[in-house]
Amino acid sequence: MKVLVVGPGGREHAIIKSLLADPKVSEVHAAPGNAGIAQDVPVHAVNAQDPEAVTELARQLHADLVVVGPEAPLVAGVGDALRAAGFPVFGPSKDAAHIEGSKAFAKEIMSAANVPTARAVATSDMADVREALTEFGAPHVVKDDGLAAGKGVVVTDERDRAEAHARECIEAGGAVVIEEFLDGPEVSLFVITDGERVVPLIPAQDFKRVRDNDQGPNTGGMGAYTPLGWLPEGFTHEVVERVARPVVNELRRRGAPFVGVLYCGLAVTKRGVQVIEFNARFGDPETQSVLAMLESPLGELMLDAAQGRLSEDRALQWKPGASVTVVLAAQNYPGAPRKGDVITGLEQVGTVDETHVIHAGTATNDAGEVVSAGGRVLAVVSHGADLNEARERGYRGMEVISLPGAHYRSDIALAAAEGRITFPTTAEEQ
Ligand code: AMP
Repeated sequence: MKVLVVGPGGREHAIIKSLLADPKVSEVHAAPGNAGIAQDVPVHAVNAQDPEAVTELARQLHADLVVVGPEAPLVAGVGDALRAAGFPVFGPSKDAAHIEGSKAFAKEIMSAANVPTARAVATSDMADVREALTEFGAPHVVKDDGLAAGKGVVVTDERDRAEAHARECIEAGGAVVIEEFLDGPEVSLFVITDGERVVPLIPAQDFKRVRDNDQGPNTGGMGAYTPLGWLPEGFTHEVVERVARPVVNELRRRGAPFVGVLYCGLAVTKRGVQVIEFNARFGDPETQSVLAMLESPLGELMLDAAQGRLSEDRALQWKPGASVTVVLAAQNYPGAPRKGDVITGLEQVGTVDETHVIHAGTATNDAGEVVSAGGRVLAVVSHGADLNEARERGYRGMEVISLPGAHYRSDIALAAAEGRITFPTTAEEQ
């Protein structure tokens, strides 16, 4: 099987590494990829958001499967163009990807499918904003109603800041969503679906804030780990039945079947599991850890989803132990990142047991050196017998890398490794 992977980031690099481990996959190509992806597979300098250009490349390569990684090409209709040209595509249509592209649409689907989520008001009127902020109270949650790579959300106790963010979103020409605050640990669950059947991966947790102890602004994600030993048995099954399946069914009913991976961003609250958001693709950096644990062949799973013949009966196989992903971010990220610095030490990371580097914002300079080219530059992904061992290996790997001004969190998976995360008891149980 020849696979084309569309996208430039860490998620795509992780997907490609897993595809290369699938014996049925004979060849993998990437468009446009990054410096790390180029070390693993051929890369093609094609604009990932140009449906025609991507389709033409798939034709030239005679791709048997195209995997569309990031949200922007999905929302730009790259999946639709490929499907119209007859390619099996892992990645939703533009209409189905709208579940990520518009938070207001996601709320509408959840309401129709009776999926538990925070109360919310979508508006472009500041009077409605003020009324909703008062009604829901602090902490205030204010979200840009468009794609903002996880950075359009402000969670704050300060009313002024909440109003100011809402005003900015509205003045930028968009709508804003004001939400009730969901109190409890967050969980990401990815499910693979062919539009009808639903196959869950394993839950992971990511770290959105830029600094240790969840301080500082939100980012695209600074690290992740799996498995979540503090979740009760049956958690995944409950999320599939109460959240993922109803949404997949609702989208199909509306004529927009979702094919690909549906990312369920959840909060585990005293009132039970509630949805924070959906994404129409793998989450970055949770994917790095989740796929590092997957033993079943990924190419086959993705092709089955793309061709509408997924099986819910065949359980996926997972490695024992745990995986931790730590993201190295450029100076000033999540603000405008410093770029163009040479990254050294990358070759030594592999000398640490069961530890590897996934590239995200990297490029190669004229001298052939790997340089920083984005906010989240790379991730160190490690596996160990438990979270403590995976953490120890991951941070040992991170320490050998050097990039001027770069920063990373030192507390990824720490609370879980120390047993400090507890599953909230529901109101009825108290
Ligand atoms: P989103 O882009 O909707 O995933 O939001 C980014 C991050 O903001 C989430 O991962 C949460 O950490 C936080 N967040 C979003 N919505 C809420 C909410 N209703 N209650 C608490 N935290 C939230």
